[in-house]
Amino acid sequence: MDKCIGGKTLAEWEHAEPTVIKIRDKNEVLWLNPHYGERDARMVTSSDVTDAEARLRRFAPYLASVFPETGQAGGLIESPIYSTAELQAYLGEEAGTRIPGRLMMKADSELPISGSIKARGGIYEVLKTAEQLAIDANLLKESDDYAILANDSFKQFFSRYSIAVGSTGNLGLSIGIIGATLGFQTTVHMSADASAWKKALLREKGAFVKEYAADYSVAITEGRKQAALDPYCHFVDDENSKDLLVGYATAGNRLKKQFQKEGISVDADHPLFVYLPCGVGGGPAGVTFGLKQAFGMHVHAFFVEPTHAPCFLLGLLTGLDDQVSVRDFGLDNHTAADGLAVPRPSAFAGKAAGHLISGCLTVDDDRLFYYLKALKDTENHWIEPSAAAGLAGPHMLLESKTGKNYLENHHLTDKMANATHLFWATGGGMVPQKNREAYYARASR
Ligand SMILES: *Cc1c(COP(=O)(O)O)cnc(C)c1O
Repeated sequence: MDKCIGGKTLAEWEHAEPTVIKIRDKNEVLWLNPHYGERDARMVTSSDVTDAEARLRRFAPYLASVFPETGQAGGLIESPIYSTAELQAYLGEEAGTRIPGRLMMKADSELPISGSIKARGGIYEVLKTAEQLAIDANLLKESDDYAILANDSFKQFFSRYSIAVGSTGNLGLSIGIIGATLGFQTTVHMSADASAWKKALLREKGAFVKEYAADYSVAITEGRKQAALDPYCHFVDDENSKDLLVGYATAGNRLKKQFQKEGISVDADHPLFVYLPCGVGGGPAGVTFGLKQAFGMHVHAFFVEPTHAPCFLLGLLTGLDDQVSVRDFGLDNHTAADGLAVPRPSAFAGKAAGHLISGCLTVDDDRLFYYLKALKDTENHWIEPSAAAGLAGPHMLLESKTGKNYLENHHLTDKMANATHLFWATGGGMVPQKNREAYYARASR
């Protein structure tokens, strides 16, 4: 008998939801979320985000002192937004994706400290852990100038504790750098697909790297198990962390301010479409939560995954969240988008933000390299393959029948000339030049 996935065979899923056939065949799809706009499970609230914003402000003097690259922004970890008119014109001419309105890039590839979206959630969770330990030990008050945390006495205090994480690379990089800088003993459990340069860089920063021959799910499960044996260890659990998600969510109000400064409106007549590369889902779900706080119903969030690893899509579509693996649907989780090479989604992200997501789409690996090169050639920005996934968004939304249906159903068709399309370029800032050129060359093949 066929294997059961949440009480249905694969054939039954295919019958109930024809998109599943295309997903199984690794075709690019756009799937609209029938649960979009449903009632909030209230697992995360706006006050959680306000609290995180305040915490990051308390830490700003510390971050400015230990990471001088954050100094200009007063110790905030934030990335610029760019208008990408050249790329927009290029995609219209070369790829046949004519994008009315404005195409923009959110350059998390340029986030200070670790050069990816993980510098939001990952660093936030470690800072929160450190603050709690120091406050509980009566070494710190919220009213203190947190620059004192850079003192040796604090480093010694934190060295009695450890931080661990399971990662495909970028989360490990963020946690490893901030953990080691604060003085924690930091262990990163890494999957086979993590790049060699990330492992080397982490070791150089003073983190322990444990390697697994298997994929991300195994690295995280092993890491979690080992950490549970140590009462002095905090495990950053990418599959189930509210703190991570809340850290990502602080991006919402920050983006709102950036748009205001640039005179970009988001309202009933000026819709905002955001395209977010998705792995376990915590990053894009957190950002989406923050964006909904900032822009309400006028922002439309789409998650983008590789055709070989659409775990979040399958979690939402089946309603099974983390109880589903892409392997149940015959997919292999093999993709050059290493940050997105995740077979099983986060349960927390789906439950906390599933109802905020307009839809999910998938993209073929070859197109990631095409977009990576197009962005470099037109706008001169380097990103990593995972981060290019968002650029598949406008094409799918504007050109596919399903996308056009979405625009019709939400009365957006006649507003597209005023729309802003923002692709979230989630990483690539730390990639060595040699690896960048190899990515570029793959696109030129
Ligand atoms: C981690 C990561 C993502 C996705 O974040 P998740 O929380 O895993 O969904 C996207 N892009 C890059 C470059 C990443 O490192």
